[in-house]
Amino acid sequence: MQIPLLDLKQQFEVIKDEVMPSLAELCASQRFILGPKVEELERRLAEYSQAAYGCGVSSGSDALLISLMAEKIGAGDEVITSPYTFFATAGAICRTGARPVFVDIDPVTYNIDVAQIEAAITSKTRAIIPVHLYGQAADMDAILAIAKKHGLVVVEDACQAIGAECRGRRVGALGEYGCLSFFPSKNLGCFGDGGMVLCNDESRAKTLAILRNHGMAPQYHHHLIGSNFRLDAIQADVLLKKLPHLDDWTVARQQNADDYGRLFAGTAGLELPQEASWSTRHVRNQYVIRILDGRRDQVWDGLKAAGIGCAVYYPVPLHLQECFASLGYRKGEFPESERAAQETLALPIFPELTMEQKEQVAATVVRLLQG
Ligand SMILES: *Cc1c(COP(=O)(O)O)cnc(C)c1O
Repeated sequence: MQIPLLDLKQQFEVIKDEVMPSLAELCASQRFILGPKVEELERRLAEYSQAAYGCGVSSGSDALLISLMAEKIGAGDEVITSPYTFFATAGAICRTGARPVFVDIDPVTYNIDVAQIEAAITSKTRAIIPVHLYGQAADMDAILAIAKKHGLVVVEDACQAIGAECRGRRVGALGEYGCLSFFPSKNLGCFGDGGMVLCNDESRAKTLAILRNHGMAPQYHHHLIGSNFRLDAIQADVLLKKLPHLDDWTVARQQNADDYGRLFAGTAGLELPQEASWSTRHVRNQYVIRILDGRRDQVWDGLKAAGIGCAVYYPVPLHLQECFASLGYRKGEFPESERAAQETLALPIFPELTMEQKEQVAATVVRLLQG
């Protein structure tokens, strides 16, 4: 039996009858740019994430970029983030002209190691972008305390972590900005690309809304240089129909993680994902195990050969990416990020996974480890 890493077709079957008539209505109206659907989604997702404002944008990547633009971060500035994340986190920093400054991860949670942040702060540092990787909150209380002490802005990369909580509070609403992605593989995905910036400050919310539409307010008057970072009404409509299902899907992901925990209990040669004490709601965007003793690639190949979907997030840490060579980082500089890149393996955890499929995934991993 083939088991995909992600199966969105099953989800579509469930929501089809809710989504398609609504999309047909929207097409009949031919009103695709911003408008009431986007505004309703902004209200609903701000409420869901316990934030005051939401600004629908074209992607999670643009959510990060526009947040930095709203702070006028650019050439000569430094922004601290993790080298073990999706490219967009650091890509957005470079797009503004600022320099990404990497701080290694904590090997247990894969999130930025807060104990190492202060040593990376200079007179040029303007912001910190913590990433809530795989759906688990970074230690926001510690990060916010450091930011406050040094006068820095915090932009949360919550692209993998919608609805996750840090000590009972939802991520995305804790820093000055919180960035969400609706890329199809995220916990709340649309039918293409989409994203949102959350924030709690009215003047920041106004700046975001203007920047996303070419810095234009009123029409054809530009006092800021923005761009087209708009979210389509079609995507907002899909997301409004999916949002009521999100908590059920999250519970199913959490159940899958618990089941894997039981199925893998006592297996030698691997480490299961662990939850930090501050992580009061892990939303399980990815279920990532560590394969020890240099055997990750062998298990990865074996799973592929057995027809089981799996992936490595991420095989090359950002400080070793060719496009960032000019930053001058060397191999060995962030040992935990480099070790994670060599040891981690993501297994299927999508909500519709059956017990039989989970058993097959676990049994195959165990067999490959013993072989
Ligand atoms: C997906 C993702 C992004 C980018 O989101 P897009 O909507 O694909 O642009 C940024 N950061 C992280 C950690 C992500 O997982």
